[in-house]
Amino acid sequence: GTQAQNEGAALVYAFTNQKGGVAKTTTTVNLAAAFTERGLRVLAVDLDPQANLTMSQGIDPDSLEVSMYDVLVHGLPIKRVIKRREFDVACASIDLAGAEIAMSTKIGRERALAKALKAVKDEYDYVFIDTPPSLGLLTINALTAADKVIVPVQCEYLSMRGLIQLQNTLSMVKEELNPRIEIEGILPTLVDTRTVHAKEAIEILEENFGDRVFASRINKTIRFAEAPVKGMSVLKYDPDGKAAYAYRELAEEVLGNGKR
Ligand code: ADP
Ligand code: MG
Repeated sequence: GTQAQNEGAALVYAFTNQKGGVAKTTTTVNLAAAFTERGLRVLAVDLDPQANLTMSQGIDPDSLEVSMYDVLVHGLPIKRVIKRREFDVACASIDLAGAEIAMSTKIGRERALAKALKAVKDEYDYVFIDTPPSLGLLTINALTAADKVIVPVQCEYLSMRGLIQLQNTLSMVKEELNPRIEIEGILPTLVDTRTVHAKEAIEILEENFGDRVFASRINKTIRFAEAPVKGMSVLKYDPDGKAAYAYRELAEEVLGNGKR
């Protein structure tokens, strides 16, 4: 199993879909909170220049002196950009937008994150990487550092073409950079239970990806927009609400698959 393969070091998940607004950040934050609730040690790495994960834990990215940019571009130890909140957060700020260009001429540019994580992997059970809405060098770094990928998919605007593109990138990374990488699961998000369309979208996903589609579904609710404004996960903001339970259920499913 994965435990033996990782020898006690953290298992690394990337949350990836090159489409924006599909709940990558929401899933990273709330699954991290759900794992933390179960006593697991989680580091969430914000690899998006928009710094939504950082902000959603109540951290102002503009106030940061150092961020993931310095880790990736200058080799700053990742510990220096980690802040303790509901779980540990390796913070991003807008300067990360310049990281891809700054890294582009470096040898080993695809492995900068994997290298940085080595120093802290023993201190966590899980590392979750939130990625930007593109398949550029930042996302390639996440996929190179990860053991598994969770792909949130917005059921309202299902893009099969986008998913095939993501699969192609994953195959390339697997071949050239990281043979371990696998899709852990595809997560239907922003599911509007009242519409026929959402049901059809999930059916299309299941026809194409079979049991790689999680049994868990994340329904649409305003709680997910409210919680980050307060700097909280939904598990902290509304601990007994349906939104919190949806991510607790996903945590159970992921942990069940991982058999740690
Ligand atoms: P991404 O990181 O993929 O761009 P986000 O996690 O930032 O996506 O989510 C996009 C927007 O949708 C955010 O405003 C978020 O609060 C909202 N959102 C995410 N999940 C849900 C949900 N299940 N129901 C309603 N709104 C959601
Ligand atoms: Mg995001």
